[in-house]
Order: sequence, then structure tokens, then C-alpha cells
Amino acid sequence: MKVIVADDTGFCFGVQRALQMIDSKIESQEKIYTLGDVVHNKSVINSLERKGVKSIQDDIPHDAKNSVLVIRAHGVPKEQLEQMKKSFKTVVDATCPIVMNLFKTAEQMNEQGYKIIVFGKRDHPEMVALIGYVKSAVVTVEPVPLGVKSCILSQTTMSSEEFHDFVKKSVEISHFKELRIINTICDVTAERELQARRIAKESDLVIVLGGKNSSNTCKLVKIAAETTRTVHIEDPSEVDKIDLRDIKTVGIITGTSTPQEDVKTLTEKILNRREKE
Ligand code: SF4
Repeated sequence: MKVIVADDTGFCFGVQRALQMIDSKIESQEKIYTLGDVVHNKSVINSLERKGVKSIQDDIPHDAKNSVLVIRAHGVPKEQLEQMKKSFKTVVDATCPIVMNLFKTAEQMNEQGYKIIVFGKRDHPEMVALIGYVKSAVVTVEPVPLGVKSCILSQTTMSSEEFHDFVKKSVEISHFKELRIINTICDVTAERELQARRIAKESDLVIVLGGKNSSNTCKLVKIAAETTRTVHIEDPSEVDKIDLRDIKTVGIITGTSTPQEDVKTLTEKILNRREKE
């Protein structure tokens, strides 16, 4: 049995950066909270909890004035950020620079009079945050009629192919004078999609390792499943339950919130089974 591991696995730059920011605060011995789970991965969250890092939602803890709050890579609405700065001793903003670029671009284009349309999911935290920057932004996955002067952007984790399709269909149903299309999809997720397509073609089975609540991981599952048998697991130990009989080539791909150590463990487990069977 051959195992193909995608070239690009493990944490993306934005998640790695957020975790490093938390680590530097752990060293300072301060009480640390994160606003929502900082990464869509149970083992990482459990490991942070063991180090005393607690995930909160909107509730302000009683010891906030003596504590650090870390804003995760998805970002938060501007007003909420200001509110948190008043409530906590320190706020560490770990919003990914690529996500922040989307917020700033939307804000600037809106100031220039463009109607802002974003290809994205309204309930995704990144989009909730974006609406905090541009309240009038239309966030949708369905093509919409464009205004006279519009700007189309995308949630950073959407599929490039689906973005192009969305733009094409929106243009077809619209009459407009001016249109700006700015592709704000993150290169990391776009590259992982390409790799998922390539590996799916070369494999009898693709294992996607990553959180089931991670939108970019679920998208990789969907892409690989279009071509070959695909299984989504959250933890390397789940591979023990997968039937590997008659499998000649296994492909491994991961979402952006999966630690590199989990990829190594999964690969070793598959290779060990190959030796035993
Ligand atoms: S997937 Fe891209 S945009 Fe999202 S956190 Fe990672 S690097 Fe940033």
C-alpha cells in the first residue's frame, strides 16, 4: 500500500500565528481566555485547556480586568473588539492578516461608494465580523443582482471555482455601470483544494484529517469525494476503524487547523497496519 501525503498539511500561517501569540502569553503566567475556540481541533483545544487557556463566548469572566483575551484568526466585529478592550486587562488581536485585509478592503470600497457583496456564509464567524465593519454588506452564497456600482469579495475560505461561478451568475442577472471583483480567497485554502483534487485522482481512498466543525476541512472532503472514496476523521486513532482491504493507494489531506504531529501519527498508523496485514 502506498501513502501519499499532501505537500501542504498542518496549521496554516494564520492559525500558527494565533497559537504562537497564545504561547507567548502562557509564558507570562497571566490568565488567558480566547473568544470562541481558537482553532477547530479538539486535541489542540484540550491541550490549551490543560495549560489553563479557557474558551469563552460573549460572557465576560469575573476576573477579566486581570486577564488576557485572545481574538482568534477569524476576527470579530469592530465594536465587539472595542468592548473587549474596555473589559479585559489586555486584548491580543490574533485576527489573521489575510482576514483583516478582507475587512479593510470591504471598508475602503464601501467608503468609495461601492455596494459590497461578499460570497460567503452569513453565520461563519469571519462573515459575522465583516458585517461589523460594513453593516450594509450583502453576504450570500446565492447569486444576487448587483447594484449600479458594486464590489464583489469573498470569504477567505470559500472555493475559488464556486466564487467564479457566483460572480458569473450574478453578472448575468444584473445591469450595472461599474463592477470591481476582488478575489480575497486565501492562497493556502485554494492550494489545499488543488492538492485535494490531485490526490483524489491518484488514490483509492482519501483520508481527510481535521475538525468536523472546520469549514475548510469539510470543503476538502466534498472535493475529494467527487473523485474517490473519502473518509473524514478528526483524530488519527479513528483510522483503526477504516477498512483498508484492497486499497493500493491512500491519500492524506488536512484542513488548516490540524497539527502536523497528527499527520505524522496518522501516516505511521497506516504504515504499521500495512506491515501487519
Ligand atoms: S486559512 Fe488563510 S485566511 Fe484563514 S487563518 Fe489560515 S492563513 Fe489566514
